[in-house]
Amino acid sequence: MARFPEAERRRLDKRVCMNCSARNSIRATRCRKCGYEGLRIKVKEVKKT
Ligand SMILES: [Zn+2]
Repeated sequence: MARFPEAERRRLDKRVCMNCSARNSIRATRCRKCGYEGLRIKVKEVKKT
C-alpha cells in the first residue's frame, strides 16, 4: 500500500467552519465567511482493517 505524502499533507491544510462549512486557511482562526470561531481541521481518517 503506497502512501502519498502530498495527499496526506493536503488533508491537513484546511479548516472547516462548523457554522457554515466554509473552507478556510489552516492558519485562519475564524471563518472568513461568517466570522465564526469554531473551525475544525479537516481530517479524513482512512481506516482500513
Ligand atoms: Zn463560517
